Formats: sequence, structure tokens, C-alpha cells
Amino acid sequence: MRDFAYHRATTLEQAGPLAARAESAILAGGTTLLDLAKCDVVRPAEVVDITHLPGLADIRADAESLHLGALVRMAAAMRHVAVRAACPAVAQALALSASAQIRNMATLGGNLLQRTRCAYYRDPASFPACNRRTPGSGCAAAGGVTHHHALLGTSEACIATYPGDLAVALVAVGAVIEIGTRWMPAEDFFLLPGETPHREFALEPGEIVTALCIPASAASRRSAYLKLRDRASYEFASVSVAAGLELAADGTIADVRLALGGVATIPWRLHAVEAALTGRHPTPATLREASLLAMQGATPRPDNRHKLDLAPRLVHRALEQLLQGDAA
Ligand code: FAD
Ligand code: SF4
Repeated sequence: MRDFAYHRATTLEQAGPLAARAESAILAGGTTLLDLAKCDVVRPAEVVDITHLPGLADIRADAESLHLGALVRMAAAMRHVAVRAACPAVAQALALSASAQIRNMATLGGNLLQRTRCAYYRDPASFPACNRRTPGSGCAAAGGVTHHHALLGTSEACIATYPGDLAVALVAVGAVIEIGTRWMPAEDFFLLPGETPHREFALEPGEIVTALCIPASAASRRSAYLKLRDRASYEFASVSVAAGLELAADGTIADVRLALGGVATIPWRLHAVEAALTGRHPTPATLREASLLAMQGATPRPDNRHKLDLAPRLVHRALEQLLQGDAA
């Protein structure tokens, strides 16, 4: 680990310019940043601690939305009664993330901005080729083990999955990210790798995520998060799904929200599945046929093609669970 200068910011006005400096990095809970510094993936010369910024650790709910400050700890959000009521999928995604120790330390903002767990990305000494870490250097994963890699949203330059759980739930329920004075749909916040995989988020240098906002909706209140992984805890998703559902008075599906984790380079909204379900009666055949659209457009590799089957089954299971009303 290398030496770095430490700044403790106490206002956003102070933090922004410090964070915009070329070799600067924002520090929240530090569970990703310090990890990556120890792996030598990031080498900040300056670290800007934002955990003392005022007003960013609130959880507020009203009739219109649920507001989560970027510095709220994962454990606090997961346990909060307003979060569990307004969006069970968010509370469940957090509860299924990482470990108790990490959830106590890590913030919601830091969770959104976590980096890929691609093993080649995290080991620069053994694998110098990584376009995400060093633009133009190549992709060690392309000829390597790809069990955990993406099938959707990939490019020639990068096939790494986005690893977080919270973001999948936020994308499904149409959350909005507050970045100081501007706002952006969560769905637009995560960038496809294309030819520039090193640009992962729609943030300019020095910009700080200040809050996450979930608009109140019946589908958000009736939502769930399911996660399949190689072991039962302390593990990232092989496949996960966030689902929300609203039924009309006649029993048809009035609103359905679906997103996948673990299979794509960004949290992957399932627009085609949603369209196939909306306005229909949720019969077993309709659910099954719609779920089969989940991996439309996927590019599997021999190591990760099991996700082609897992993802539609998990979507189906989440919808059935919500229909049985036992998700929350
Ligand atoms: P930090 O490490 O402080 O920051 C993370 C990144 O975000 C840094 O680049 C930082 O500069 C930037 N940043 C932080 N806050 C802001 C902000 N407000 N505005 C702009 N930039 C910011 N996560 C899951 O979702 N699911 C899992 O199953 C899971 N398992 C894990 C298992 C292990 C062993 C470990 C180590 C981590 C795991 N994680 C998992 C990831 C963990 O949840 C993240 O490390 C954590 O949420 C990051 O939050 P933090 O506050 O510590 O972020
Ligand atoms: Fe790097 Fe992406 Fe290739 Fe992994 S998949 S080695 S993150 S370029």
C-alpha cells in the first residue's frame, strides 16, 4: 500500500474541488476503496473523506418518495422500517449483500459506486491486460475463466459484471440518483463498457452522489429481491433479480418492474419481460413465456452459459412469490 494525503471534508463545496483533482479519490466507508488500493488497482495520491459532510445520512419517507442519503450505512437502511415498507426489494438486496461487518461500515453511495469483482481486474501484478483498469491494454478475461463474467451489455473491450445488489433493486423501481443539484435516473447512471470500460458511472470528476430517491409506487411497495450465488453468504450474485408488481382490480398486471444482477455489465432492466406481462392476467403460462425473454440478446461463453437457464427461472420464481403475497 502506498502513502496518500488525507483530507476530511466538512462541506460539499470543499469536497468537490478536492475530489476533482487528478489523483484524488473519494472515501466513504472505505470497504471498496482501501481494498482496491491494497490490490494496487487504484493509487490515489489524495483521499477525500466525505463521511463528515452534513445532511447526507438521513432516511426520509413521505407520500411521494423515499429519500436515502448517500452516507446512510447499508445496515441502517436494511433495518429501517420506512425502507422495508416503501421498497422491500431494497431492504432485501442490502440484507443479502456482503457481511454484517461490511454492511455496518459501508455506505449506500459507496455501494452503488463499487467496482467489478473481475479477478483479472483485481490482480494487476499477474494480469497487466485490463481495459477497465488501463485503457487500451487488452482484456485478460477474454481468454480466461469467465464463470462470473457477463452475458449481456458486453463489448470487445470488457465483459466484467457489475457486482452490486442495491443498484439492481434501484434500477427496477425507477429510482433517481441525486448528484449535488442535479438528478439522474438510476438506469442512466451505470455506463455500458463499449470502447471505454474505464468510464463506469455518469459522473464528472469531483461530483459526489448525495442521495438516492425512490418514487412511491404500488410496485415498489410490493417488491422483492432474490439472489443466487455460489455459497449462501458473503458472496456476490451469480444471478439476482429485483421484481415489483401491481395488479389492477380485474387481476391483470397493471405495473411490473424487473431487473437482473450478476449477468450483465450494468444492472439490467428487463423491459421486454415487463412489456410481455403488462396488461395480461398472470397465468402460469404467461409468466413462464415472459420470463424466457429475460436473457434475450445474451452472448454466453462456455463457463457462464448456466446463467441462461438460471436467470429466467429466478425471474419466474420472483413473480410467483410476489403473486403469492409472501415477498415482504
Ligand atoms: P468506499 O469504499 O468508500 O467507496 C467506493 C467507491 O465509491 C470509491 O471509488 C469511492 O471513491 C466512491 N464513492 C463513495 N461514496 C461516494 C459518493 N457519495 N459519491 C461519489 N463517489 C463515492 N456488495 C454487494 O452489493 N453485494 C455483495 O454481496 C457484496 N459482497 C462483498 C464481499 C466482500 C468480501 C467485500 C469486501 C465487499 C462486498 N460488497 C458487496 C461490496 C461492498 O458492499 C462495498 O464495498 C461497499 O458497499 C462500498 O461502500 P463504501 O462506503 O465502503 O465505499
Ligand atoms: Fe478488465 Fe473487463 Fe477484461 Fe475484466 S473483463 S480483465 S475488468 S477489461
